[in-house]
Amino acid sequence: MSRAIVLGGGGFVGSHLADRLLREGMDVVVVDSFLTGRKKNLAHLAGNQRFRLVEHDICQPIPVTGPADVVFNMASPASPMDYARMPLETLEVGSAGTRNALDLARRAGATLVHASTSEVYGDPLQHPQKESYFGNVNPVGPRACYDEAKRYAEAIVTSYARVHGTKVQLARIFNTYGPRMRVDDGRVIPAFAAQAIAGEDFTVFGDGSQTRSFCYVDDLVEGFLVLWKKGDGMPINLGNEGEFTLLELADVMRRVAGSGGKVRSTRPLPENDPKQRRPDLTRARTILGWEPKVPLEQGLRPTIAYFREELGRA
Ligand code: UDP
Repeated sequence: MSRAIVLGGGGFVGSHLADRLLREGMDVVVVDSFLTGRKKNLAHLAGNQRFRLVEHDICQPIPVTGPADVVFNMASPASPMDYARMPLETLEVGSAGTRNALDLARRAGATLVHASTSEVYGDPLQHPQKESYFGNVNPVGPRACYDEAKRYAEAIVTSYARVHGTKVQLARIFNTYGPRMRVDDGRVIPAFAAQAIAGEDFTVFGDGSQTRSFCYVDDLVEGFLVLWKKGDGMPINLGNEGEFTLLELADVMRRVAGSGGKVRSTRPLPENDPKQRRPDLTRARTILGWEPKVPLEQGLRPTIAYFREELGRA
């Protein structure tokens, strides 16, 4: 019987990953402190004999024993609003939490698959972003707690591989969306979806010319599985190449939801907010044979349906 441990498995991406691993026939242990994750993301797994939940903060040594095949480290606040609110917790989980994740993987004889982020590129001066780009990060700005913690995490993950021979894989996740995002997490997809559903104006920060590329969560989860099996131990971008300005995103959202108001610029672009972002997927394609399959319009349908339920407007 194979066994996976998902740190941060109560979160948006982690809970989808746990579901997928269970469907693959694995035993799954989820560890989550529910700082930003939610128990309701796992409620449907209650009673599943192959699922176990350990409520625990991974900044403390992780109390899971026994062998495992893989540890996925998905634990961290990831929305800019969340990490602005909890900078010290974000730094701690990226540093102490990642070290504890590595120690757990070593003890269990498992591969550590670590969720890094496109934020390691900061406000990028290279476009699209290749893994070889070292980034443009302000170490003392409002995003530093997340960006630098994730950069440190990449450093300690690759150092464990060098020093201890730990098997590791690193995914740099670009903007991802889907059901189970918190509707109030501050990110643009839940914000715009809620506004479209309510028929309200879209709140755009800055002039809306900044770009993002949005990956549907099922594509990302598939990428994580392939990365575990086929990665080369160095960072690989996982995301979608479809790049949209926020003005374009508002149009797509209005079309898919069938409602929504005008675009309204409500505040200047936040400090250090990346002006453009799109993954170069050459390494994902050549090393993993992976690429995303779900276009934005298609992925927004179940996402908007989920938010309708959450908002009681189904
Ligand atoms: N944004 C916006 N309106 C919102 C929320 C976000 O215009 O209600 C912008 C934000 O300034 C950024 C982009 O949308 O330029 C994506 O923000 P998000 O928080 O989703 O993630 P990020 O890619 O910045 O981590």
